[in-house]
Amino acid sequence: MKDKNMLMIPGPTPVPAQVLQAMAKHPIGHRSGDYSKIQEEVSANLKWLHQTAQDVQMLTVSGTGAMEAGIINFLSRGDRVLVGCNGKFGERWGEVAEAYGLNVERITAEWGKPLDPAAFQEKLAADTEKQIKAVILTHSETSTAVLNDLETINKAVKEHGEALIMVDAVTSMGAISVPIDEWGLDVVASGSQKGFMIPPGLGFVAVSEKAWKAYETANLPRYYLDLGKYRKATAKHTTPFTPPVNLVFGLQVALQMMREEGLEAIFARHQRLTQGTRAAVKALGLSPFAPDDCASPAVTAVLPTGIEAEAIRSTLRNKFDIAMAGGQDHLKGKIFRIGHLGFVCERDILAAIAALEATLQQLGYEGATPGAGVAAAAAVFVG
Ligand SMILES: *Cc1c(COP(=O)(O)O)cnc(C)c1O
Repeated sequence: MKDKNMLMIPGPTPVPAQVLQAMAKHPIGHRSGDYSKIQEEVSANLKWLHQTAQDVQMLTVSGTGAMEAGIINFLSRGDRVLVGCNGKFGERWGEVAEAYGLNVERITAEWGKPLDPAAFQEKLAADTEKQIKAVILTHSETSTAVLNDLETINKAVKEHGEALIMVDAVTSMGAISVPIDEWGLDVVASGSQKGFMIPPGLGFVAVSEKAWKAYETANLPRYYLDLGKYRKATAKHTTPFTPPVNLVFGLQVALQMMREEGLEAIFARHQRLTQGTRAAVKALGLSPFAPDDCASPAVTAVLPTGIEAEAIRSTLRNKFDIAMAGGQDHLKGKIFRIGHLGFVCERDILAAIAALEATLQQLGYEGATPGAGVAAAAAVFVG
């Protein structure tokens, strides 16, 4: 049916009508007082969301642009960095770092498993000459739906004392607590089309005082993504280059909605959505790809047995207008992923699970009792 598309992918995520309406206006001049007022409010709310007293820098980029800004502003050619790789986005960190001539050492884990904090701890403890300049990792690894243990890995970085910690929080920001100042995270990157409830096009980078010190001596080439330019402008409630003003209108409203809901309530909602989805998947005889104790709060990857992941996705799309994501790289065709990030409520999960059950029925899957998935999700939501 036309205009009934339901986005259940881990980005872009659904956008509230209020946000869409806020964006459907003529742009205003970005050097105007009216724009500065909006940016001042947005800046304050970004700090609140990021749990930091530092200004959060806003760039016109996708999430990868925010990651690249993190690499090029605080490191120098040949710097030794540890990169956590247990999925597509961890590998992307490694690729960006290598593209800029950094000396990358990967700490890997099998896709679907979390990074082992002890592996970081060992490398960092052995580095008595303090050559490791940064530890770089993905918090919520969207490709496998695994949440890495950022808190424990960060403790090892703090014991080292020298290295910066750089985090891809693209699908954890706005889904689970990322207490930037409390933990002392140095560079935290995220993107608008994930937990922010607005369309793609904005990237965000939070930067610690320690990282700003590293900025002074970092020597990689930078221009458009030179965060020093943004820092100066943000302090004056403006931007170095033309921002996507209509997206910022949307961001203003989305952040107001988030403040109204409250951080704790937002995190608790994502927790319930995750638990409900996982309970339903298990009740249907399908396996969540990530273990329970490291489940992403933004997305659930499902490993179906005796039934094709891509057949499930195409039936959901064609018959029920529901978009779920497929697997990436070697997981293509093996898993499918249910996004539950941002503007998603319990009703959306119940609807998606009911449609998934009907899909399984249509495809002749006999591993589940009809209704079992919805009942399991409902038990989480009303329990
Ligand atoms: C979506 C995503 C990104 C950014 O991807 P873009 O396509 O550049 O926006 C980065 N990291 C993770 C974990 C993501 O989920």
